[in-house]
Amino acid sequence: MPGFELFGEAEKKQVQDVLDNGVLMRYGFDGMRKGHWKTKTLEFALAQRMQTQYAHAVSSGTAALTVALASAGVGAGDEVIMPTFTFVASFESILALGAVPILVDVDDTLTLDPNAVERAITKNTKVIMPVHMCGSMADLDALKAICKTHDLLLLEDACQAIGGSYKGKPLGSIGDLGCFSFDFVKTITCGEGGALITDRLEFYENAHKYADHGHDHIGNDRGAETHPFLGYNFRISELNAAVGCAQVQRLDEFVHIQKNHYAILKEALHSIEGIAFRRVPEGGKENYSFLNFFLPTAELTKKAHGTLAEAGVDGCFYWYDNNWHYYRKWEHLIEKKSLGNLPEQVVKQLPEYSTADFSASDHWIGRTISCLIKLGWTESEVRQRADKMSEILRGITPER
Ligand SMILES: *Cc1c(COP(=O)(O)O)cnc(C)c1O
Repeated sequence: MPGFELFGEAEKKQVQDVLDNGVLMRYGFDGMRKGHWKTKTLEFALAQRMQTQYAHAVSSGTAALTVALASAGVGAGDEVIMPTFTFVASFESILALGAVPILVDVDDTLTLDPNAVERAITKNTKVIMPVHMCGSMADLDALKAICKTHDLLLLEDACQAIGGSYKGKPLGSIGDLGCFSFDFVKTITCGEGGALITDRLEFYENAHKYADHGHDHIGNDRGAETHPFLGYNFRISELNAAVGCAQVQRLDEFVHIQKNHYAILKEALHSIEGIAFRRVPEGGKENYSFLNFFLPTAELTKKAHGTLAEAGVDGCFYWYDNNWHYYRKWEHLIEKKSLGNLPEQVVKQLPEYSTADFSASDHWIGRTISCLIKLGWTESEVRQRADKMSEILRGITPER
């Protein structure tokens, strides 16, 4: 991560195709585009790689989440269960539909704790949205079982774990719906973009219409199309999709590089007393975009994070203090700071997060450091980094 580190001829060629014909829009202009349908091509490649029936590309990962929820019929007052550790896009997409984000603790997988999920279910719950943070996944069998018992939908946010798998199936393809982001810092990127995947025709049909003003996409005349329901514009442009076409073909190459770098770093930290790695659910394969580990206490973790940064080991995150990825700093959500009035249901049903007890999350996130795995490193750079990290962390963790 991120895929832009290895931009090359393939990306240029794809973009040039679009500019040569001048069709920057994914729909229509059939004659002008001379057979180049970049968004459709990207969707086809993605559906194939993810082993799903359908893929629909949109303008961002946040848009993908919003469209996925909308396509499943989520609306005002519906509750969506999401983790305390995720990117703000999770609750943004839920709130965009007038639905209510229900924050739930994470466990040592750094994703939704299935037991906590079960406790949070009410009569208004409609969707469970695990977020496969920092390259690894939630316990999907447990979450699927809960969905089955309570008749809920499972929406996987796989924006940070594209290319990973669970029991042989690509992450994103296991739930009823799965979402990816191709923003500029993701494993595969097209500048701005995202996609949802699903095996359910009904959701796919809803998704492509909702993401394009409700257009039914029947026939050859956009102006004559009908609008079966209200929609919005979440379209991706052909220029972005073109870059995506090149990058999606390189996903496995990128994951392979990340895996090699990850293995070297993990090996170096493996024997350090007091360091433990994030739990990957049985049958899970990471996409190796981050190496995530725990230290014995929050104090030591904070100290280690500071020392790593001072020593020039860049790309290591202490999420506990991060403004964007952990509930503690989401005061705009907690205090319901919205430009205009929020829907009545949101105001009424949003839990009082200022006093909520997420100490179970704090227990894990307070002791977590996540180190970004870069694609562009040479092997000797990775080895130097591994030595440096090992030396620093050995100096910080208590002696046996
Ligand atoms: C990046 C990201 C998103 C949002 O994607 P954008 O394309 O930036 O809108 C959503 N969820 C997670 C977990 C992400 O990391």
